[in-house]
Amino acid sequence: MDANGPPWVAAARPGFPGALLDRAPCGYIAFGDDALVRLVNATLLDRLGYAAGEIVGRHVEAIFTVPGRIFFQTHLFPLVMLHGAAQEVFVLLRANDGTSVGMLCNAVRQARDGAFVTDCVLVEVRERRKYEDALLLAKREAERTNRTLEEQALELELQHQQLQDQADELERQRAEAEEARNAAAAANRAKSEFLAVMSHELRTPLNAIGGYTQLLETGIYGPVTTEQGEALRRIARSQRHLLGLINDVLNLARVETGRVEYSITDVPLSEVIAELAAMIEPQMAAKQLTYAVIAPHGELTVRADREKLVQILLNLLSNAVKFTPPGGRITLRCTAAAGVPGMAALEVEDTGRGIPDDKLEAVFEPFVQVRASGFGATEGTGLGLAISRNLARGMGGDLTATSTVGVGSRFVLTLPRSAPRGA
Ligand code: ADP
Repeated sequence: MDANGPPWVAAARPGFPGALLDRAPCGYIAFGDDALVRLVNATLLDRLGYAAGEIVGRHVEAIFTVPGRIFFQTHLFPLVMLHGAAQEVFVLLRANDGTSVGMLCNAVRQARDGAFVTDCVLVEVRERRKYEDALLLAKREAERTNRTLEEQALELELQHQQLQDQADELERQRAEAEEARNAAAAANRAKSEFLAVMSHELRTPLNAIGGYTQLLETGIYGPVTTEQGEALRRIARSQRHLLGLINDVLNLARVETGRVEYSITDVPLSEVIAELAAMIEPQMAAKQLTYAVIAPHGELTVRADREKLVQILLNLLSNAVKFTPPGGRITLRCTAAAGVPGMAALEVEDTGRGIPDDKLEAVFEPFVQVRASGFGATEGTGLGLAISRNLARGMGGDLTATSTVGVGSRFVLTLPRSAPRGA
């Protein structure tokens, strides 16, 4: 810039404090009604990077950006022409380096020296815009966050509703299952009661059949021919079979309805073993089976109903005899430790045909019998193991089985051990 100050200012307005205007902390530009620039101060020239000669005498639109120019033509210029003034109008000016500069403009159109001149004061709004931009950004961000929060709240509400629905559904299923369980339990009780009554009613006439058959066999009602004798023996066998079946059904019904009473005492196993041997050894001998008993040295005593314990073991040993071919071996093993603290185990092991894996649990269901190929239909009702397991559980123990087809089976009865004497 000229060291003597901008000559166009001083020249245009003698006596006008041009140097002061040049140093003003805002831009100043004046144009006539023809829109040609009359005056411009150094502050604005410096800010925009123009030399005075590039602006003065030229159309004022030269310092506007393209959108700024449109705005000048459609708003600012008509405003000052119509109203003589414009206040705080935002204009976009174009600096010499191509960047745009936002400024606030106050303009006044007034007559001077016989012509109209519009004086404009321009204040850059860079700082203010920065804050406005920051504020705008913050506002947008807050709005976005708010929207996200609202969406999340909605999502949560949806999830809450879904969970509630699931909980309702689960509750409904639980209630249904409970109802079904109650119905099944009631049906089972009714069935057991029916069986108990029927079995009882059947036993009386069956006992009469047995009694009269025996009487006939003795010849008390007159001589019996050989054929008649054979027929009577068949009747007696069938009667015994039927009576056994009915007794089993009655037993199971009693066990299932919980009508069995247990008289639990300390039962020394040595006594039970001796009792069993007397009952089972004739059957073993008839089938040439070897019978071995393995028991600990000291006395082992369990808490059980003695009669029911014998019933269970007799059932296990009879099955072992039934399902083990001649020449096989049957072992009764008693151990103080059943793997569960405080329990003793009584195992009946045979070298018989075994039970397939998928039938191991089923044999404890009532009326289930495994038909093995090569073996004919077996005697029995399929109730013995169901009754035995129920009795074992009724005495606080359990009855389980392991087996290998063709090798043998092992049935394990666990029962609580008696407390050591003096304890
Ligand atoms: P039952 O002996 O009257 O048929 P159980 O309830 O005592 O009734 O036994 C059910 C079924 O389990 C038997 O029919 C048989 O198929 C199988 N089973 C039981 N014990 C043995 C065994 N020791 N070896 C092989 N199969 C056995």
